[in-house]
Amino acid sequence: MSIWIDDDSPHDECGVVGIVAPGRDIARLAFFALHALQHRGQESAGIAVADDGHVLVQRDLGLVGAVFDEASLRSLGGHSAIGHVRYSTTGSNKWENAQPVTRNRGDGLVALGHNGNLTNTDDLRRIVADDPQPLQATTDSEIIAALLARTPGSLFDAVAANIHLLVGAFSAVALSSDELIAFRDAHGVRPLVIGALDGGYCVASETCALDQIGAKLVREVRPGEVIRLTADGIESRQALAPAVSRMCVFEHIYFARPDSLLDGRNVWEQRRAMGIELAGEAPVDADMVVGLPDSGTPAAIGYAFASGIPYSEAVVRNRYVGRSFIQPDQELRKNGVKLKFNPLREIIDGKRLIVVDDSIVRGTTTQQVVAMLREAGAAEVHMRISSPPISWPCFYGIDMPSRQELIASSHSIEQVAAMTGATSLAHLSLDGLERAIGSPANRFCRACFTGEYAIPVPDSTTKLRFEDLTAGASSQ
Ligand code: SF4
Repeated sequence: MSIWIDDDSPHDECGVVGIVAPGRDIARLAFFALHALQHRGQESAGIAVADDGHVLVQRDLGLVGAVFDEASLRSLGGHSAIGHVRYSTTGSNKWENAQPVTRNRGDGLVALGHNGNLTNTDDLRRIVADDPQPLQATTDSEIIAALLARTPGSLFDAVAANIHLLVGAFSAVALSSDELIAFRDAHGVRPLVIGALDGGYCVASETCALDQIGAKLVREVRPGEVIRLTADGIESRQALAPAVSRMCVFEHIYFARPDSLLDGRNVWEQRRAMGIELAGEAPVDADMVVGLPDSGTPAAIGYAFASGIPYSEAVVRNRYVGRSFIQPDQELRKNGVKLKFNPLREIIDGKRLIVVDDSIVRGTTTQQVVAMLREAGAAEVHMRISSPPISWPCFYGIDMPSRQELIASSHSIEQVAAMTGATSLAHLSLDGLERAIGSPANRFCRACFTGEYAIPVPDSTTKLRFEDLTAGASSQ
């Protein structure tokens, strides 16, 4: 049994990488690129390589460093590779759902890694229902691979022929024995960037992965674009007319690594700017500004800069908490935040604190943090959140609870402050967020704040809906 023992933050989705570099140690490059993307998914990791007419895949549950070792990387030689790290947003955490997923195309395997969520998977399942290869996994990603496997011709043509069938969010990589293809939905919800490296080209979810393997940023994969990577360059087709850009605004607030560039701008700088905006919108007299590490830190630094109130660390984070197969006992589970944070009592005692965090989901983490800081002697705890209240669930690749479980969907800010025990609570406004990011707000998906979904949402929205279908099928 595995559990997530740290908090109720919205969880990252997935990370993908694709590299063509004949003569380079391709699996090692993919490994280190995935290592840089580990924050996007810690449930499973996998690499597929193409070599001499074959596609080889290794994938398993666990962190990148646990799934691969020196021997396995040496056995994965080739001219091209794709890789994937996963946090399950559709389908449970089991081996079959680890990616890259593979399907037989007749002339060999096609492997696929996908970041995002499709919202029309029930329709797509009907299209592939007559496929002689039964679906093994319970994810939307395997359905994309099945569509590509049943389409003859080059992989480039197969992606271009099927991309219009896919509704939802996808930044994906696909590999056959002689082609590596990357493609992105028409709204560009999830990031995907192209890099040039010595001896070839690559794509990755974030620029931090390019930095890790010594690649230089070329540009983003455009919304609706399909590209074929070769050792000599990039071949591009605009397969879908680009729609209004709906990049997930939470990539800027929380998901992306702070050293990555999104839309050409550094994420750490944007988060610091969110703190500056928040200090202007929600000032309060206090002794110290504290960031909840790590995601709250840049905004806390910005808040302290703008307010003139000193910044300090006040909690130490245990960086090794994450997916664990060890069940904490009842007492530890009741206050899971103590597994993640330990307060610096000598710093906190008697102080009026401004505590900056990136978001509130159910409110349970905030409640535990406030209680922990008060126990450590804080005289006041003013919570400042560098995003607007989350009132609506995400259908585009982020694991969030149902609307009923989102505390802001049914409680006012004052009520949430009272429930969490905070002395005061304030969120950054959408306008403030827009100013901090430096791009017009209508360029982003903000549906979890506004309920305005630009891409159709599915009828059936449970994460494990395909498990239900599989169970039904097997009982017949
Ligand atoms: S609903 Fe929220 S988390 Fe989901 S894609 Fe839109 S902005 Fe991102």
